[in-house]
Amino acid sequence: MLPDHPAQPRDKQQSQRTPGREGTERGIPQVADLGRVRRDERRSRQHEKNNHTGIKKRNKRLPGHTNRNAQQCNSELTVSLDALERHYGVQSATWPTDPWLFLVWWICGYPASDVTCAKGWAALNRTVGTEPANILAASPAVLAGALKTGGLVPELRAERLKEVAYRVLEEFGGDLADALRSMPLASARSVLKSFSGIADPGADRILLFSGISPMPAVPSSSPQVVIRMQRGRPSDNYGRNYKHAQQIISESVPLDMQARMRAFLLLKCHGEQLCKRSTPRCMACPVEASCAYANGGA
Ligand code: SF4
Repeated sequence: MLPDHPAQPRDKQQSQRTPGREGTERGIPQVADLGRVRRDERRSRQHEKNNHTGIKKRNKRLPGHTNRNAQQCNSELTVSLDALERHYGVQSATWPTDPWLFLVWWICGYPASDVTCAKGWAALNRTVGTEPANILAASPAVLAGALKTGGLVPELRAERLKEVAYRVLEEFGGDLADALRSMPLASARSVLKSFSGIADPGADRILLFSGISPMPAVPSSSPQVVIRMQRGRPSDNYGRNYKHAQQIISESVPLDMQARMRAFLLLKCHGEQLCKRSTPRCMACPVEASCAYANGGA
């Protein structure tokens, strides 16, 4: 079992099941057939379930997921984000935005960070590839060898990668993005959180950057940033901070995919550069004049 990464302190613990090993012992699934049949079965089951329960797709509003539009959200936070963008430049995602590929990328590094994940990801692409079938077909030693460039416990991460590949083929017909889009939003979030290493921050980030839903996603490593900017001193409780940060974004950033991705990226960058968790460098900060924390906010 991998230890929790500090960037995501509430990450779920590793499943006791090891489907990667099952995949090896029972033989590799026939990808093309399995994918088509599973997808058809899943759509049929979901269709019947929705008809039976009267549930419409994405009809359940999640906490912090309000319907404010761009006009309603011309906020102080937007002004601060504009200032951060002038300071750091336009930001873009440096990770794969497809849900399946993000899960792979996230496992490629440990402790997970943009740098470690990118190293493991590059090595995995060179040696094995990122198709679920390729990952299931690769030997544990080859997989671990690729993941070693991304940091610690490569053998355990190789096992985890096989587990995820097996589940994506077995449960989602090889197309996780399509499966997530076909189910209510709350279910999609629960499915993502059922993968080991993914908790609320990871699920929200995947749903936002894959274009499935404009979630008020908050960078897992820096929920303190938006709280300091808008309210003042953050709590000592990570979960409370995450929810508080989500609420601020939900109320202040338009319910728009691009606007929320921009907010996520700028808050992440600012948390890594200046507004660090333990010691914010307020003297160098471009939003110090308007920051609640720097101006003595509670
Ligand atoms: S002034 Fe300080 S606390 Fe406020 S956003 Fe900038 S670095 Fe963070």
